[in-house]
Amino acid sequence: MATRTLEARFERMSVNDENEYQKTKVVTTTTQVASNSSRPNLYKVALQTQSANAVSAAVTLPSQAAQRKVAQPSSPTRKALPTTASRASSDEAAHAERKSAALIEQPTIKQFHLGMFEIGRPLGKGKFGRVYLARERTSGFICALKVLHKSELSQGGVERQVRREIEIQSNLRHPNILQLFGHFHDSKRVFLILEFAAKGELYKHLRRENRFPEWKASQYIAQMASALRYLHRKHIIHRDIKPENILVGIHGEIKISDFGWSVHAPNSRRKTMCGTLDYLPPEMIKPGTSDNSYNEKVDLWSLGVLTYEFLVGEAPFEDTPVMTQRRIARADMSIPSFVSPEARDLIKKLLVLDPEKRIPLEQVQTHAWIVKHCTKSSSSRDKS
Ligand code: ATP
Ligand code: MG
Repeated sequence: MATRTLEARFERMSVNDENEYQKTKVVTTTTQVASNSSRPNLYKVALQTQSANAVSAAVTLPSQAAQRKVAQPSSPTRKALPTTASRASSDEAAHAERKSAALIEQPTIKQFHLGMFEIGRPLGKGKFGRVYLARERTSGFICALKVLHKSELSQGGVERQVRREIEIQSNLRHPNILQLFGHFHDSKRVFLILEFAAKGELYKHLRRENRFPEWKASQYIAQMASALRYLHRKHIIHRDIKPENILVGIHGEIKISDFGWSVHAPNSRRKTMCGTLDYLPPEMIKPGTSDNSYNEKVDLWSLGVLTYEFLVGEAPFEDTPVMTQRRIARADMSIPSFVSPEARDLIKKLLVLDPEKRIPLEQVQTHAWIVKHCTKSSSSRDKS
C-alpha cells in the first residue's frame, strides 16, 4: 500500500518544463520530502558526490499559472509495480485516491533529491549515463535511477534532446510505456526517476531465444500497437522503435523506453548516433528529408520491421549499410516460409512504401494474427 501511495505521489509530482505537451496534466501537491539521515550510504555506490550540499536539488517547476491549470487526467490504469504484492485489488482505490488528490490544487514546491533514495545494483550503462536500481527510503518504492552527467550531455550536444525526453516521457501513462516519475539535478548530474523494468532489455531476450514463437511475438506487437496508438493520439511520434529501446516488466509485459529521438529530426540523429539503419522507414532515408516531410506513420513501418525481427530473428533489410538503404527504399525483403500466413499478411501491410497505405494501428489491433494469439484481456486493454 505504501508503494501505491508513493507511486501516486510520484505521479502527482510529475514535472513539466515549459513545454507543448501540457495538455495532459500538471499536478502537484504537498508532500513531505523524506529525511535523509542515512545519506552517507549512498556514497558507497558509484555516485561520487563531493559534498552533501551538492546532493539536494530542486526539480524544475512549471509556472504557477500552469500549476493552476490542473487538468484531470483520464489516466489509463497503470500496471502496478514489481514490489506491490496486493496490486490488483488496490488499483481502483489508488485511482480514486489519485483523482481526489488531483482535484486539490496546491501550488507548492516539490523536491526530489538524491538523499531520498537508497542506491542498489547497477542495471546498465548507456551512452550518457548509468542506471541503478533504487529504493525510495520512506516508502520502499523500487525504481530505476538514471544518472546523466551534465558535462557529457553538453559535450555530446544532447542537452536539448534530454530535456525533450523528460518533457515527453513524464506526461505519459500507459502500461506499455516506461514511466518517468520525476527528475532532479545537482551541479554535475541529472537524475531521472524511472519505472523499474524487472526483466531488462527485450533485445537480450530476443538474442537469447533467437526468435520468438508466434504467440509471444503477437502479444508483444499487440502491446506495441496499444502503446503507439496512445502516443499517436497525443501527437507523439517515437521514431526510434527497435528491440534495444524496449524493456520488459515483471509480468513479461513490454515497456517502450527511450524517447530521446521522439521529436528529433532523423538527420541530426544519424550524425550523432551512427546507429542501425534497419528500422528507418523509406520516407526518412530519402535524401533531403526534412522534419516535416513525414508523420506518425514512420512508427508503423518500424512496427513492421519489429514484427519481422521478432519472428525471424533478424531485421528484414539487414545488409551492408548501402544495401540496407537501397532495400528499404524498395521494400525489398523476403519472409521465410516458417512464418505463418497471418503474420506474413500483417508484416506486408506494415512494410508498405507509401506511408498513407500502411495498415492503421486500430486495424493492427484487430488483425487476424493478433486476435488469434491474444487473449481477451491482453488485447482489450486499450479499447477504452
Ligand atoms: P543510449 O544511451 O544509447 O540510449 P541505453 O538506452 O542502453 O543507451 P540507458 O537508457 O541509459 O541507455 O540504459 C542503459 C541500460 O540500463 C539499458 O540498456 C537497460 O539494460 C538498463 N535500464 C535502463 N533503464 C532501466 C529500467 N527502467 N529498468 C531496468 N533496466 C533499465
Ligand atoms: Mg537508450
